[in-house]
Amino acid sequence: MRLSCVGWDSSISMANKESNILVVGAGIAGVSTALWLQRYGKKVTLVDRSEPGEGTSFGNAGVLASCSITPVTSPKMIPKIPGYLMNPEFPLYVIWKKLPILAPFLIRYLLNANDKDTRRIARGLTQIVTDSVVQHKDLAQGTKAEKWLKDSKYIFAYHSRKAFESDKYVWSLRAKAGFKPNLVEGPEIREILPGTGRDITLLAVMDDHGFILNPGHYVKDLATTFIGQGGHYVKAAVQDFLLESGRIKSVATDEGNFECTDLVITAGIWSRELMKKLGVSVPMETERGYHILFRSPSIEPPCPVMVATGKFVMTPMAMGLRCAGVLEFGGLTAPPSKKPLEVIKAHVMKTYPDLTWSETEEWLGHRPAPCDSLPFIGEVGDTRIFAGFGHHHIGLTSGPKTGRILAEIIANNHFPVDISPYFPRRFT
Ligand SMILES: Cc1cc2nc3c(=O)[nH]c(=O)nc-3n(C[C@H](O)[C@H](O)[C@H](O)COP(=O)(O)OP(=O)(O)OC[C@H]3O[C@@H](n4cnc5c(N)ncnc54)[C@H](O)[C@@H]3O)c2cc1C
Repeated sequence: MRLSCVGWDSSISMANKESNILVVGAGIAGVSTALWLQRYGKKVTLVDRSEPGEGTSFGNAGVLASCSITPVTSPKMIPKIPGYLMNPEFPLYVIWKKLPILAPFLIRYLLNANDKDTRRIARGLTQIVTDSVVQHKDLAQGTKAEKWLKDSKYIFAYHSRKAFESDKYVWSLRAKAGFKPNLVEGPEIREILPGTGRDITLLAVMDDHGFILNPGHYVKDLATTFIGQGGHYVKAAVQDFLLESGRIKSVATDEGNFECTDLVITAGIWSRELMKKLGVSVPMETERGYHILFRSPSIEPPCPVMVATGKFVMTPMAMGLRCAGVLEFGGLTAPPSKKPLEVIKAHVMKTYPDLTWSETEEWLGHRPAPCDSLPFIGEVGDTRIFAGFGHHHIGLTSGPKTGRILAEIIANNHFPVDISPYFPRRFT
C-alpha cells in the first residue's frame, strides 16, 4: 500500500495499523474532531483527498457567528420567493436547469419555513453556536492556529430602519437566546465604520463575537499541531466502507484499505455520497456561496460587517477585505455564476463608495445544507461510524464544538449536549 503524505509539513508520520480512529475530511469539523480525540488519548488518522482546510472551510467569511441561531428558512418567506427570484439584485439564485434535480430537496427545505420548525431549529443551533468564541479558544490555545483568532464585535448594516424592522422575527429569536444588538443611527455610524456611504443608515452592533483572520491557514495550523503531536495524516480519497458484524472494519481509499475501530465522517457536502455507501439517505444540498477578496483595500471595517440587503459579510482578513456570502442553489458540479459575484461587488461599492484595491480574487464554495438546517452529529446506528457534517452557514462557528462533542461521545461515551436533534438517521 502506498501512502502519500501532504507536502506542507515534512515531519508528517505515516499512518499505520495502530491508528484505530479514522476521521474522513480535514475541514474545520474533521480537524477539530481529530484534535479533541487526540487530547483524549486516542490514536487518530485524518484522511483527506486534499490538504487540510481546502474545502468549504477555506473561503468562508470567517465569522464566529455566535448569534446565528436561525435558519435561512423562516415563516412567511414562501410567498416572497417568486419576488426574490425575479429580482436579479436579490442575493438568492437558482440555476434553473438544475431545478428538476433540486426540487425534491427544495420542497422539504421549504416545509420548514414556519414558526414551529424555525423555533425547533433555533433550539438545535443554539446548543452548538452560542459559545463559539470560547470553543475556538479552547481548541486553538497553545497551537500554531491561535494567532488567527480575534475577539470582535459583529455588525449588521442596514440601509433603513424599515429594513431592520423587517428582520424583527429573527432578532426576537436572537434576543431570546441572549443576543441583543445596540442600534446606531446618524453620524455615529461613520465613527464606527469610517468610509461607509449614505446607503448604510442603521447598524445593529453585537458584542462578544469573533472572527478568523485566515480560515484556510487556521485549519492547516490546527492540522499541523495534530500531526506534530503524533497524529497521522493520509492524503487519499475515501471510496467505500467494509463492515463486519454491523460494525466498521475498514475503509477503502484510492491509496489502499485502512482498518479502524471507529470512523468519523466529516467530509462536508461530500459526506452525502459517503453516507449513500452506507445505505443512509441524507437530504442535503449545497447552498453555493461566493467570495471576492479585495487585496490591499484602501478602507476596511474593524470587524465583520453583515451587509443585510446583500446577505454577505465584509471581513478584514490577513489577506485583504474578504466579502463572502449570498445563496445559490445549483448543485455541486455547475461552474461559478457571474451574477452573484456582480451583486456582491455592487453592494460593496455602495457600502464603501471610495474603496480602491490592488487586485481581486473570486471563489465559489459549498455549504453543506440539510433540508431541516440541523447538522448530523452522532453514531449511525450501532456501527461505530459517526457523523459530523451538515453545518451549512455556521460550520466554522460550530466546527470546534462539534468535534468536541464527537470526541466526548467516542472516547468517553459521554453526551455533553442533547444530540437528539442531530441524529444521523433521522430521515431514514
Ligand atoms: C461564502 C461562504 C461564507 C461562509 N461564511 C461562514 C462564516 O462566516 N461563519 C461560519 O461559521 N461558516 C461560514 N460558512 C460555512 C462554513 O464554511 C462551512 O459550514 C464549513 O466550512 C464546513 O466545514 P466542514 O469541515 O464540514 O467541510 P469542508 O471544509 O468542506 O471539509 C470537507 C473535507 O472533506 C474532504 N473530502 C470530501 N470527500 C472526501 C473523500 N471522499 N475522501 C477524502 N476526503 C474527502 C474535502 O477535501 C474537504 O477537505 C460559509 C460558507 C460559504 C460558502
